[in-house]
Parts: sequence; C-alpha cells; structure tokens
Amino acid sequence: MSSSLVQACVAVVGPSNVLVDAADKQAFEQDVWGRYCGKAALVARPSTAEEVSKIVLIAAEHGASVVPQGGNTGLVAGGIPDETGRQIVLSLSRMNRIRQVEPRGDFVIAEAGVVLADLQRAAEQVDRSFPLSLGAEGSCQVGGNIATNAGGLNVLRYGMTRGLILGLEVVLADGTIWNGLRSVRKDNTGYDLKEIFVGSEGTLGIITAASLRLLPPQRDRQTVWLAVASAEAAIDLFAAFRSHFGDLISSFELIHSNGVELAVEHLEGCRRPVSDRHLWHVLIELAWALPTGLREQTEAFLAQLFEDGICEDGTIAESETQRLNMWRIREGQSEAARKIGVVIRNDVAVSIERLPGLLHAMEKWTKAQDSDILFMPFGHVGDGNLHCNCLVSPDAVEEIEPRLLEALYDEVTKLRGSISAEHGIGRLKSNSMAKRKSEVELRLARSIKQLLDPSSILNPGVIFEAREREPAASS
Ligand SMILES: Cc1cc2nc3c(=O)[nH]c(=O)nc-3n(C[C@H](O)[C@H](O)[C@H](O)COP(=O)(O)OP(=O)(O)OC[C@H]3O[C@@H](n4cnc5c(N)ncnc54)[C@H](O)[C@@H]3O)c2cc1C
Repeated sequence: MSSSLVQACVAVVGPSNVLVDAADKQAFEQDVWGRYCGKAALVARPSTAEEVSKIVLIAAEHGASVVPQGGNTGLVAGGIPDETGRQIVLSLSRMNRIRQVEPRGDFVIAEAGVVLADLQRAAEQVDRSFPLSLGAEGSCQVGGNIATNAGGLNVLRYGMTRGLILGLEVVLADGTIWNGLRSVRKDNTGYDLKEIFVGSEGTLGIITAASLRLLPPQRDRQTVWLAVASAEAAIDLFAAFRSHFGDLISSFELIHSNGVELAVEHLEGCRRPVSDRHLWHVLIELAWALPTGLREQTEAFLAQLFEDGICEDGTIAESETQRLNMWRIREGQSEAARKIGVVIRNDVAVSIERLPGLLHAMEKWTKAQDSDILFMPFGHVGDGNLHCNCLVSPDAVEEIEPRLLEALYDEVTKLRGSISAEHGIGRLKSNSMAKRKSEVELRLARSIKQLLDPSSILNPGVIFEAREREPAASS
C-alpha cells in the first residue's frame, strides 16, 4: 500500500477517518456471514459528497479502485474488496443525515449512510411510512438499498426500492457530483438517468443522497398464518386473497415445513403457530390506513376459506408477540439451520404460476443426489421470488453448492425467470449471469459501464469479471 495514497486520503477526511490497521479494517473486509474475505488498501470514511469526489480522484491518480460500502449486509460480496490489497473501501456510514422530511410533499431527502430503520422512524414521526422493510433493516443503509435495488417483505404492495426513488445525488467516476435530488413525481425530460444507478451495485457511481417517496401510515394490520397441502394450493390461495383484498396485502410468504420445524427446534422461544405439522405454510400480512375494521374483514374471509376446504388449518395473530413469532419462523430459518450445517442460499424468481413447477424440479434434484440434502425453500410468493435453500453438512458444501446452483439457474432460465431476484450479482454470480444473459443485454450493459467508468475505478469485478485497468481517456 502506497503511503502517498494514505496521506492523500488523510488530507481529505482526516486521520481518524482513514483506517489502515488490519484490526480496524477487518469488519469492512468480510461479509456478514464471514464467508467471503478480501483485503483493502485502506478504509476511507468521508462525510460529504465533496469528500467522496476527492477520494475517487485520489484513487484514479494512484491506480487504485473504489469499493463503496454501506451497512455491509449484502449477500453477494459486492461491497467486499478483492484480494489484491489495492482497493479503497469507501464507507458511507458517516453520511447519515436526513436533510429534509416533507409530509405535505410526501418525500424525504436522506444521505446514503442513513440506516433503513432510522429512515422508517423518521417517516413515522411525521405520520407517514417508508415501506421498504427487510431482515437487515437495523444495519443496511439507504445507499446500499438503492445500489442493490433491495426488495424485502413489502414488494408485493410497494414494489422494489426503485419504485420509491424520486431523485439521486451521485458522485461519478471522474469525480463529478451530479445533483439529481428532484422530488417531482412526474419528469419526462428525456432519459431517466437516476434509473441507471439503481441496482448498479457501486459499479457506475457512488450514491451520496436520495430523495425518496413517503407513503400513508398503516394503522391497522392483521397477520395470518395458514397451512396448505401443496405449493399449488398456496398459489390458489394467493389468487383468492388478491381477488378479495387487492392491494391491502403487503406480504404473502410461503414456507416449507422443513424450515418451520428447524426454526421451532433451534430458535429459543419459537413456537409453531398451528399445533399440527403441515407440508406448507403461508404467512400473510394485510394493512390499511384506517385504525380499525380489518380484523372483521379478515375473520369473515378466513371463515369462508375453511368452509370451502381451501386451507387445512390457520390462525390470526392475537398479539404483537404472536405476530413476531410468526415472522421469526420466516426470517430465522437460516439462523436455525446454521446451528446444524451449512445453508446453500439463492434468490431466484419466476412468474408466480410457475413457482410449483420450479419447486418440484428442485426437490426432485435434491432427492436424486447421493448426499443428504434438506430442502428448505421459502419465499415471497406474491413476487414469484423463491429462496430454494438447502441445508447440507459442512464437508459436503464445496461439492454440492456449485452443482445445485447450476441446476437451479438452468431450471430458472428454462422458465424465463431471473437467477437473482433481489440480492444482485456482486462478485459471486458474474459467471452465472454471463452464461445466461443474451449477447445483446451483455453488450448494452458493458457499453454503459464503459461510458460511465472507462478506467474501471468503481467496484471492478462486481457484476462483470474484473479486467485489466485501461487508462482514462485524456481530454
Ligand atoms: C438478514 C438479512 C436479510 C436480508 N433480506 C433481504 C431482503 O429481504 N431483500 C433484499 O433485497 N435483500 C436482503 N438482504 C441483503 C441486503 O440487506 C441488501 O442487499 C441491502 O440493500 C444492502 O444494503 P447495505 O447498506 O448493507 O449495502 P452493502 O452490503 O454495504 O453493499 C451492497 C452493494 O451496494 C454497493 N453500495 C453500497 N452503498 C453504496 C452507495 N452509497 N453507492 C453506490 N454503491 C453502494 C456496494 O458496493 C455493494 O455492491 C438481507 C441481508 C441480510 C443479512
């Protein structure tokens, strides 16, 4: 690591915001599960867009590249440096101010380092809601959410992060600060440039702030747990709920019994919401802005479902404790499974009616293998998004994981789905993506990267395989 690189960064952000000691850098060099590790030249922690811009220019001058990092909860190692020890990790955590909250205009302007849960609270304080919600919301940051186009638990009703963005402030690879922090709902003045940066995983620009939509508060919420006999029955159930409740459904989650039993056995205090074992379970959340009345609507609809024999069993959460228990089973499955083995994770999408076909194909694949594989899929059924996760023993994972993921991605591609519904490509899936996207799509995507970052300063090796650094065009 060059001492002039360190000195130049110190001159911009001060000595306490340039981390060079191995112990200080460690948390920024590995992912949330400690599975992927890299090595950074240094970690820089700027507090303004101007400082971000200067660090990017310093990186370019020193032949280094920049890895933007938010809360470091990403699941595809996109915010982790490579192993060269030549990359600067640029942590946005100090850019954590909420610049403006405007309930009459229904928007908030937040810096990239604002933690998602803090943004949700700021919205609640003005009687609004910010509907993006995911298991990592206590740590992940607005910039990371935008850079990954995060999904989460309410996509069915509110869409992905993309749909919540009104404007962005971005530092480009040449150090230019683009202030696109508009808060208008309608803007058809040519290409919508902000869209390019959403889901770009730090490869096209560094997001420093965002103007985001606020939504009405949800005052009455009902959480329902139902047992069904098959994945097909769950899809029919979803269609019935959609017909009856329309957009009041914010979550519709499918869970296999293997995951439920793991959670009940290994997570302290977790209880099965219905007493008997069933093959499939569905967790549904309904909400509206009125303070009361949804309970009666929900009870009447469930009574009809049971009378028609559409569900095997079920219950409505009677208290916040019961509701949290239901969500703990849904969200704590991987944590429970990790107590006895290694979870092979994935994050795929197909159109909703094709979910049962995908589940059957993958269950058949797991049963045809010699090793013990516990099939424990769950997912956001309403979004056609599945985590076809499998639990294997630690000594089998190296051998099974690549074969399982290839089989899954082939099946998903056959069904015209996506190999990454939410988590992105990062450093882990660039090969799998390159094999499955069309030549036209890859060419267009590479052209955009070449145009915005010709010298590959921003997150090389993420989304696309890293290539030799080309000198920036002299102007
Ligand atoms: C328990 C758990 C549950 C999760 N659940 C979900 C879920 O339901 N849905 C979902 O979509 N994801 C989920 N995730 C994944 C993760 O939380 C999201 O991808 C999140 O949006 C990442 O935000 P972050 O701030 O942690 O970003 P990081 O992990 O720090 O970075 C992620 C990517 O964004 C880039 N980046 C970060 N900040 C910026 C910036 N300011 N400008 C440009 N690029 C930037 C990084 O370089 C990297 O490529 C989950 C993760 C965990 C650990």
